[in-house]
Amino acid sequence: MITTQLAVVGGGPGGYAAAFLAADLGLQVVLVDPEDNPGGVCVYRGCIPSKALLHVANVVADSRHAAAWGVTFGEPTIDLDKLRAFKNGVVGRLTGGTGQLVKHRKVRYMKGTAEIVDAHNLSVTLHDGTNEPVRFDHAILATGSRPVRVPSLAIESDRVWDSTTALDLPSVPKTLLVVGGGYIGLELGSVYAALGSQVTIVEMTPGLLPGADRDLVDVLAKRIRQIVKAVLLNTKVARMTAEPNGIRVTFEGADVTEPEQVFDNVLVAVGRRPNSEIPGLDRTAVQVDARGFIVVDEQRRTHQPSIFAIGDVVGEPMLAHKASHEGRIAVEVTVGENVAFEPLAIPAVVFTDPEIAWCGLTETQAAKEKRAVTVAKFPWAASGRAISIDRIDGLTKLVLDPDTGRVLGVGIVGSGAGELIAEGTLAIEMGATAADMKLTIHPHPTLTETVMESAEVFYGQATHVYRPIKKKSEGKS
Ligand code: FAD
Ligand code: NAD
Repeated sequence: MITTQLAVVGGGPGGYAAAFLAADLGLQVVLVDPEDNPGGVCVYRGCIPSKALLHVANVVADSRHAAAWGVTFGEPTIDLDKLRAFKNGVVGRLTGGTGQLVKHRKVRYMKGTAEIVDAHNLSVTLHDGTNEPVRFDHAILATGSRPVRVPSLAIESDRVWDSTTALDLPSVPKTLLVVGGGYIGLELGSVYAALGSQVTIVEMTPGLLPGADRDLVDVLAKRIRQIVKAVLLNTKVARMTAEPNGIRVTFEGADVTEPEQVFDNVLVAVGRRPNSEIPGLDRTAVQVDARGFIVVDEQRRTHQPSIFAIGDVVGEPMLAHKASHEGRIAVEVTVGENVAFEPLAIPAVVFTDPEIAWCGLTETQAAKEKRAVTVAKFPWAASGRAISIDRIDGLTKLVLDPDTGRVLGVGIVGSGAGELIAEGTLAIEMGATAADMKLTIHPHPTLTETVMESAEVFYGQATHVYRPIKKKSEGKS
């Protein structure tokens, strides 16, 4: 029998961040996960491999774009085995690193799957089939999520992929249908388009990335339409049938012009669902809601006081950095800190080209809540840096409290938006105002200046755009 102060079930960015912090705080820690080393979905088949491939896609796009500056490269030749080896190498390097960190911190890593016995005991089935009992003071459940399976899309065929299959690069199909115009559909659709597939994206709602602000999405959508064969909005896949030469797909929707098409492969990316069916969970007081998420309070404690839960398994947004942050909070609570998970802003980034990123209050959300906000926008066409790198397809905006100028939200679309958004997140967390953003000297020429100049727009004083503030009497007839 292993006894430990903390048992963490699931070695993704939630679970391993929690286990490592707990060890740093001096706790005895057991971390259980089926993989050789910690990493979870994010490192093995999510964030990291997709970003490695998106980097390659960007290089391909940039090399084509360079022709406009008088630098012409030939069309790329894709060596799929080498590309896969690069991607696997990236994953291996990171998981090798987490494996080392497990050793340095003396975390007891158990390669296997955990079953809950009761509120203080687990049974771990190790990879060799043996069972090991673990007694814990506290446990953190960090079992993550998996792709949603929709019955009409769930046919048995090697030609139908989920994100894990697509990241394995089985082939570069001539034609690829991507079902779902969300994060995964857009990111992996962009990868395959860059590798040479004719990609069609089908999205059941009226726009790509439902929920994100339209002015940001419009910039991305314009670019996506240039790199893919077609984007079908307001369209659902009613049926898929495997045929010898491909997957026959029947589309449904008011805008459908070609109701049946055949694709070499289909990537289904219509959302993810929580892994809350942890064996033995019903032997505890832990509750699961109607959508399958484990119910937790603001300290990430479940209805069973000794058990916490974090990451994708407790709710949206299903993002790695949210999982890690929750994990660290849960650990601090177990050691008696009076802390809670109550971020003012969680950044979201879609790593397409251009990237799209937002944090805090969006305009869409403000409109839904009928909340008065002032939006200050700075178009990248006026940014010296954006012009010099020939990437004026961007927009930075601040969503501000109209009375105090406090930064409530930030949205950015453009090259590198995912890096730029961190300043917005910090501003929101620090309670910064537009004045703070305007008075902070940003380096020139950089895209970070677009954040400062958005704040200048709020005051009608932006150096590089003419946006005078309307006087109260103006505009009135
Ligand atoms: P996970 O990473 O899902 O890890 C859970 C682990 O628990 C898994 O290893 C699982 O095998 C293990 N497990 C489950 N049940 C048990 C059990 N009974 N016993 C032991 N172990 C168990 N997020 C971002 O923030 N940025 C991105 O760029 C990004 N890109 C993504 C790209 C793709 C293609 C996908 C699919 C996801 C992406 N995500 C991204 C989302 C991100 O991967 C998740 O939000 C994140 O991995 C959630 O972390 P987690 O710790 O909650 O769980
Ligand atoms: P998603 O929720 O982002 O997008 C799914 C899309 O599919 C939605 O736009 C939805 O309207 C559409 N859809 C649903 N059913 C459909 C149908 N039958 N036909 C056509 N369209 C349909 O989900 P995802 O892309 O699968 O990604 C899952 C989650 O993983 C994301 O929500 C995000 O939390 C995480 N993720 C994050 C990143 C990142 O941070 N860069 C990248 C990938 C994944």
